[in-house]
Amino acid sequence: MGSGKVTDWQGKNVTVAGLGVSGVPAAKVLHGLGARVTVVNDGDDARAREQAAELEALGVTVRLGDGATLPEGTELIVTAPGWSPDKPLFAAADEAGVPVWGDVELAWRLRKPDAAPWLAVTGTNGKTTTVQMLASILKAAGLRTAAVGNIGVSLLDAVLGEEEYDVLAVELSSYQLHWAPSLRAHSAAVLNLAPDHLDWHGSMEAYARDKGRIYEGNRVACVYNADATGKPSTEDLVREADVEEGCRAIGFTLGTPGPSQLGVVDGILVDRAFVENRHKNAQELAEVSDVDPPVPHNIANALAAAALARAFGVPATAVRDGLRAFTPDAHRIAHVADVDGVAYVDDSKATNTHAAEASLAAYESVVWIAGGLAKGATFDELVAGAAKRLRGAVLIGRDRALIREALARHAPEVPVVDLGRTDTGAMLQAVQEAQRLARPGDTVLLAPACASMDMFANYNRRGEAFAQAVRELGA
Ligand code: ADP
Repeated sequence: MGSGKVTDWQGKNVTVAGLGVSGVPAAKVLHGLGARVTVVNDGDDARAREQAAELEALGVTVRLGDGATLPEGTELIVTAPGWSPDKPLFAAADEAGVPVWGDVELAWRLRKPDAAPWLAVTGTNGKTTTVQMLASILKAAGLRTAAVGNIGVSLLDAVLGEEEYDVLAVELSSYQLHWAPSLRAHSAAVLNLAPDHLDWHGSMEAYARDKGRIYEGNRVACVYNADATGKPSTEDLVREADVEEGCRAIGFTLGTPGPSQLGVVDGILVDRAFVENRHKNAQELAEVSDVDPPVPHNIANALAAAALARAFGVPATAVRDGLRAFTPDAHRIAHVADVDGVAYVDDSKATNTHAAEASLAAYESVVWIAGGLAKGATFDELVAGAAKRLRGAVLIGRDRALIREALARHAPEVPVVDLGRTDTGAMLQAVQEAQRLARPGDTVLLAPACASMDMFANYNRRGEAFAQAVRELGA
């Protein structure tokens, strides 16, 4: 089942594992190609029944309430990326020698012969931002492109739709990479690597291995984070990858770049990789102030985006213009307002400790609003690293005691307000308490290091509640 020509699919027995954002479109596409499609789904709630009815009307078979049994005669499974590899369905597939593809693998295989190459981005944090910066830079260079994958346009739509592209800026999660064995990007970047989703992957090694798959078969550049100190580092992942002859390892750093790196010199983003005679020369790309917001981890994102764009041959001026044209999505280090000399910043998207660590590091003196669902995380490292910047902390949400205890251990002098309420009005009180703790020049930062679902529908709502509360302070 190689090239994905329509004839390959006629009458093929394909099982789609999981309804939902990737399963329903995958089932429709495969059915349209002539495959005999069966969808299996663990749940059978109202939403699933609705989706099942829609697919059944097309002639797709749907089995609700049993995602474990491999349908007889299955020749291929196309799985939702979130399905964990230890599910019984996959053990059965393994035994029967049935290949398993994820949504990304399917899109990759269905590309047209002259399809646009992919510039791919993964990492624990910063993926969406980097992919959007990259798309903005590519557009500034006059290329037809879109930010696709985990965000915006679905990969299947981008690959099969009418719209023509010169190149795609593709965001990939570790789950998607796990299930994408034959993906071969033009160039790819791993932004950073911190423990996340380890319950799914089984171990840090397995998580890193799945992330590292993004480099497999790269043709032009494997972009790594030269400042990352963790083990394995993103550079280790590049070393382990099997790439095309001539593909280069390109580092990005917030410091002065060495040869084959992009970095920062005197407030300027510079390229010492995609220049003639990189041992002597450097090319100015943009100013740090062209990056929005110009905080360290976001400058790193900009450098990674620039590296991928330069690997694709984009001129330096397009990097600058693309970065200037870029505005971050909501709730990612969004400056809400200044009230009485205190800045209020919404980084509700900081839903894990690694993200919160990066955003806390961006400010000198912070009143930190944190808490929510910890998802099994521990907070000692985060709090110990941020202690000297903390003017105070206001804790919200179900797992706030974990953060309170870490503060007591590593930052005992920092005043802490523990809000023992999780109703929707709690955010207003949290912001008022933060205002009380803050002094002029401080930043009140919502960077919860936790998921939001104990108190809010999602991180957007949490950020909106924060912004609303800040507006009430100002008024
Ligand atoms: P992702 O798509 O990987 O979730 P986003 O671009 O949506 O990444 O950013 C999510 C959050 O991660 C941001 O709100 C910010 O707090 C943090 N973040 C962004 N870039 C980085 C980075 N390079 N390193 C660490 N944290 C980051």
